[in-house]
Amino acid sequence: MSRLQQVTVLGATGSVGLSTLDVIARHPDRYQVFALTGFTRLSELLALCVRHAPRFAVVPEAAARGLQDDLRAAGLSTQVLVGEEGLCQVSSDAEVDTVVAAIVGAAGLRPTLAAVDAGKKILLANKEALVMSGALFMQAVRKSGAVLLPLDSEHNAIFQCMPGDYARGLSQVGVRRILLTASGGPFRQTPLAELEHVSPDQACAHPNWSMGRKISVDSASMMNKGLELIEACWLFDARPDQVEVVIHPQSVIHSLVDYVDGSVLAQLGNPDMRTPIANALAWPERIDSGVAPLDLFAVARLDFEAPDEQRFPCLRLARQAAEAGNSAPAMLNAANEVAVAAFLERRIRFPQIASIIEDVLALEPVVAVNELGAVFEADTKARALAEQWLSRNAR
Ligand code: NDP
Ligand code: MG
Repeated sequence: MSRLQQVTVLGATGSVGLSTLDVIARHPDRYQVFALTGFTRLSELLALCVRHAPRFAVVPEAAARGLQDDLRAAGLSTQVLVGEEGLCQVSSDAEVDTVVAAIVGAAGLRPTLAAVDAGKKILLANKEALVMSGALFMQAVRKSGAVLLPLDSEHNAIFQCMPGDYARGLSQVGVRRILLTASGGPFRQTPLAELEHVSPDQACAHPNWSMGRKISVDSASMMNKGLELIEACWLFDARPDQVEVVIHPQSVIHSLVDYVDGSVLAQLGNPDMRTPIANALAWPERIDSGVAPLDLFAVARLDFEAPDEQRFPCLRLARQAAEAGNSAPAMLNAANEVAVAAFLERRIRFPQIASIIEDVLALEPVVAVNELGAVFEADTKARALAEQWLSRNAR
């Protein structure tokens, strides 16, 4: 390779961010860290800067002075930028080749879109950004010529199982449907009555994956799969009825593509995000990710079952939002973010996450979203309604 690829990692201090930096560190001949961003874990960010010596670090304004002093004391010339403006700057800088979008939630939307508008190669983990603004996001990708590669393990698996020219349309390339696998999370078999009493730590104890707390709760409620259904529709230009959710508790098959001739292609691997990250970083080449080879004899069996929407109402709500389109997914996402934060703060019980989202979606009519302002308006409205719900009903 002629030149080191310059990589910005948005959300470097998080689970996906750290896995990305682990893969990057294995290939100093290919990648150089251009910028790292953090939000609350500032000592971790400092340590990452010492390890990777990025040109820029981005933090909230209140943390900037302290970090800049610490960086200087460590002998680094890393420059600290602040806030959303700083995030957008390191996403769109002319010297950047690749942007890893790994901020959690709606906070990642503008910086990710800045990378899209600048025509970068974008490795997308921040599914909430695409869920919120789907049509506008994909239009912006087409307009700028950005290369959008999915990091979400299921979507990366689907991407690997699709033919190279899938953008022509699923029916054109003989794809009948996408089979989106889900582990079912920690509460797949918990008696329904006990869900009233589960704690944040129980919800975050995912059986197969180690992840940030928000996505862990989403996995426990299966809202994560709902968001992924919407994500898959946008990434692969599929209708919601072309995406079927399949519970596969071992998380060895990361998703499948079903073709009209009866062939079903699957991507398998150990549940470790470094595989999809390495796949997307080096695409279309393949590089070592540090992930151990899959031991099929140790796996021994692969199980499948249909999802239970009574146990997981969030999946039904997400499918309805996918079908309604327009502002519905942005409202679903915003109500979910508020509800999950309230659950993690022990202000509500686990089943109330779905109740909040259902009530918010019932209260607010779905409107067209033709520009980004309308997306943020829907987001703000849903957050306000969810907060009102909390002040009325929270324990
Ligand atoms: P984490 O909570 O571990 O990390 C989130 C990152 O975002 C951290 O760097 C955090 O900074 C930063 N951040 C949080 N809030 C803000 C904000 N308001 N402004 C700027 N930065 C912010 O999450 P994950 O790494 O688990 O997930 C990140 C994204 O990737 C999510 O969208 C998730 O759905 C998706 N994803 C994650 C997978 C996983 O295996 N973890 C798998 C597939 C998708 P700090 O820590 O310093 O506060
Ligand atoms: Mg996933």
